[in-house]
Amino acid sequence: MKWDLTNYYKSYEDFKKAIQEAKEIINELATYKGKLGIEEDFVKYYEKTLVLQGNYLKVYLYAECSMDLNRQNTAACSDMQEVMFVFQTLSQATAFESPEVLKLGKEYVMNVLDKHENLEQLRFGFENLFRKQSHILNEEGQAILANYQGLSQVGSDAYGSLTNGDITKRYVKYDNKEKVEVSNANWTKLVSESKSPKVRKNVFETMMSQYETHKNTYASIYNSVLQADIAESKSEKFNSSLEMYLFANNIPTSLYLNLIKIAHKASPIVKKYYKLRKQVLGLSSYHTYDRFLELVPDSNKKYTYEDAKELFYDSIAKFPKEFVDNAKEATKDGYVDVYPSTGKRGGAYSNSVPNVHPCILLNFTETLDDCFTLAHESGHSTHSMFSMQNQPTATQSYTIFVAEIASTFNEQNLLDYLLTKGTLTKNEKISLLQHAIDSIISTFYRQTLFAEYEYIAHTKAENGEAITWESLSNIMINLYKKYYGLNIVKENVKQYVWAYIPHFFNSPYYVYQYATSFSASLAIYQNVKEGKENAFENYLSLLKAGGSDYPINLVKNAGVDFTSIKPLEAVVTRLSDLYEELAKAINE
Ligand SMILES: [Zn+2]
Repeated sequence: MKWDLTNYYKSYEDFKKAIQEAKEIINELATYKGKLGIEEDFVKYYEKTLVLQGNYLKVYLYAECSMDLNRQNTAACSDMQEVMFVFQTLSQATAFESPEVLKLGKEYVMNVLDKHENLEQLRFGFENLFRKQSHILNEEGQAILANYQGLSQVGSDAYGSLTNGDITKRYVKYDNKEKVEVSNANWTKLVSESKSPKVRKNVFETMMSQYETHKNTYASIYNSVLQADIAESKSEKFNSSLEMYLFANNIPTSLYLNLIKIAHKASPIVKKYYKLRKQVLGLSSYHTYDRFLELVPDSNKKYTYEDAKELFYDSIAKFPKEFVDNAKEATKDGYVDVYPSTGKRGGAYSNSVPNVHPCILLNFTETLDDCFTLAHESGHSTHSMFSMQNQPTATQSYTIFVAEIASTFNEQNLLDYLLTKGTLTKNEKISLLQHAIDSIISTFYRQTLFAEYEYIAHTKAENGEAITWESLSNIMINLYKKYYGLNIVKENVKQYVWAYIPHFFNSPYYVYQYATSFSASLAIYQNVKEGKENAFENYLSLLKAGGSDYPINLVKNAGVDFTSIKPLEAVVTRLSDLYEELAKAINE
């Protein structure tokens, strides 16, 4: 039930020795600056980077696991710092690499790869690098852009200062307590735990008052973010900011627009679900912050870790042997740290680096939710196992675009397994279905609303329209009406939600990625569930492909073509099925 870290290094000394070896390789890499144009040196340089990537990222995994087992263990924390420092020096030591390779040109590089089979695995990475070339300015242009680099960060910094630095503490009367502080970190917990609509309203309005008070300043800051995006995208010869941001992952803008269309198609179901919630919760009016309320009280039925494993294994038993084998291998004793303990990091994750058995951290407390967490993290580890078995070092790591597919797949499958098994109590069933619907809404639907907001705001700015708090609030008011059928003006401060989401200011056009992975996973799952031809084989091909291609191609091979709207309709089907099940369970 505990990690056995000797699976990674036989002894602590071996781990320390590996850090030293990694440092030596990094120092050597630095000496190749200016030499990549010599074929022999080019080959040696990249052979060394592969050794580093393939054998030494393990020190990172080992250090992180040791630290997360007990964060009060100062020795483990300082080992982690040392490892982080080593990898920082790596990026400094190899900063010359990309500019030098770009200068050498595609023809030279591909020619070397043709002659050296051991470097073939780097071809995709190089193609991706050269793909960007048409948007890289000449030296003078790059130097000018670099002069403005610091300026483009000012908006995001100002946002942080205003939201975290210059904030005044705010308090509410909460239940029996006279004065409870409300912060961005605790307001959802306060809202979800209060039975009083008046208290919930007060908590929410108090939290949001920061944004209302400074609405003009927030709008100016956001405008500076939009203007920086416009300047950069124009300089780099993109047609829009959207195109620039999607270009990094080689994603067509049609995907973005298709996501939005699918969300619109799902909207009647979401509205019905909200109506049902309002009715079950007995509320006279429904507010956006009421989404945190549970439809039924927590079930106190316990599931041991053995139960959880058995449920998970049973749920996947119908799938091909190679999938089952890898899922079992991923959850083998010694690779899962199961129970909470003093100093252990909270939450759950799966950790993997190339060529090494992945490991899972849980904080298992015997709830049904924990069973789903096990299935989720096993999905990540299983994906990594398949990637490791089928890909060379350079293409094992996969991107965020595909990362949540296997985990979500396992959760959906476990849910259906439990529903058909018929051993759940009525409340357990309601609670499970509620959480499944809520997670589609929060991961796919709400994020797509935000993605549409970013698209509209950027487009307005690109068309030279004024960006003010009124115009930004109006976008949100219209979107909430369209997506949820809620008039958020009645919530008084909800319209400032555009100022509440830090991603809009820190990393524009980022949130859509939550929605893509999730909807791809649902589409793949529906194909398997409906028994479409080769559905599972196609899914396996995605898991085996690791990071060997652009994400849009990887999911296409798995049967989900994002450039067409059709496969994404699976999201609507799934949402609708779950809603019907929930309505049935409530009336049973
Ligand atoms: Zn995950």
